[in-house]
Amino acid sequence: MFKSKLNKFQKNFLEYKKDNSDMTYYNLPKDVVFCKTCLMSNQKPVQTIEHMSQVSDQKTTLEFIDGVCHACRFKKSKSEEIDWKQREYEFRKLLSKYRSRNGSFDIVVPGSGGKDSFKVAHELKYNYGMNPITCTFAPNIYTSVGYDNLINWINAGFSNYNYTLNGKIHRFITRLAIDNLLHPFQPWIMGQKAFPNKFARMLKIPLVIYGENPMEYDQGQRNYKYNEDVILELHSRKPDDQLFIAGVNYKELSENLGIHKSELDAYIPLSIDELKENNTKCITYSYYHKWHPQGNYYYTRDNSEKFKLSAERTPGTYQKHASLDDKLDDLHYFTAFIKFGVGRAHYDASQEIRSGDITLEEGRELIKKFSGEYPKRFMKEISEWLSIDPRKFPESSKFIDEPFFSEEYFMKLCDTFRSPHIWKLNEKNEFIMRNILS
Ligand SMILES: [Zn+2]
Repeated sequence: MFKSKLNKFQKNFLEYKKDNSDMTYYNLPKDVVFCKTCLMSNQKPVQTIEHMSQVSDQKTTLEFIDGVCHACRFKKSKSEEIDWKQREYEFRKLLSKYRSRNGSFDIVVPGSGGKDSFKVAHELKYNYGMNPITCTFAPNIYTSVGYDNLINWINAGFSNYNYTLNGKIHRFITRLAIDNLLHPFQPWIMGQKAFPNKFARMLKIPLVIYGENPMEYDQGQRNYKYNEDVILELHSRKPDDQLFIAGVNYKELSENLGIHKSELDAYIPLSIDELKENNTKCITYSYYHKWHPQGNYYYTRDNSEKFKLSAERTPGTYQKHASLDDKLDDLHYFTAFIKFGVGRAHYDASQEIRSGDITLEEGRELIKKFSGEYPKRFMKEISEWLSIDPRKFPESSKFIDEPFFSEEYFMKLCDTFRSPHIWKLNEKNEFIMRNILS
């Protein structure tokens, strides 16, 4: 609850006033280090198993060796050690095994119709002769460009199944994820990971092909094997897993909200056994192919009738071509900046440095200029969306003590999530970062 968070903030207040603080939240490394080759921070957590994520979560962060991050080392090994002709052969062999003989759907391609999922579905259909059906887990709040790009995908020759969550429950669960975890996207990520396998099972299609493997970015860690089935591991649950949604125990939520089980099911992944029943094979396109996000954009633009870029620069970064479809996106990256000191421009620039699209120096300037910019543009609409009226949803007050989600509330909440080793209060009691890229 908010009051206990404020108490903790007051208790730690003097830490923020110190010139240096060793107090860290979320198990983040005490010393902030930026990768020598891509500038990513060692404070960046790796992929979390979301259905087990609790308020007291201790994060595992990106592994650094000799000042170089795991993503850079992975990128290097991918470009130097893989026999791509062999991988292409393996991919074609795999597809042959699953290709339908009567033209029925034989692959599920999850995605939004953005540059990555467009390219994967398009290549599978027109290059490899497969029969994909696409599926989308609808964004929290569609942007108009995101919706137009979904239609553009469909119009390029694909059937699509777009699953939209129960709005009343999902708004509440998202609000809870912000209050508990300062993670606006957590419930959506849970659903987005769980849904494609459920959809594939429903249609009895055993092959699901995602775009990128988390290892492509800064999500991977040393104990993930870069095998073709890593996604299956991350998108399913084991028999003993305790289930949490928005950091709250599943049982506690369902019992106290007075809602049906079906209204929370969208967030819960299938069990390994359920996946086995469908013989689901769940792989990533990037395991078999070189993966270049900007190249995917050019492919999608050149093979689309009406693929759109955002009309304006995305707040917090410099680009207009990635993660365009959800109005909550800006808020999501801003909260990552608060918790880990890594804003959206930082994610974008590090990835583009690794891909060779921009230089280290260009990346450094872009991060300094845009990272952590306050996401003003959709805040009014988001505030209304996240305000939960207890007259319409009385049970919500068991979990939320400030029903109205004002920007003032949001910023106070953010302050309670700032780790003292990253943030300092200056003489005017304004927060500044202790470690800035120089
Ligand atoms: Zn790096």
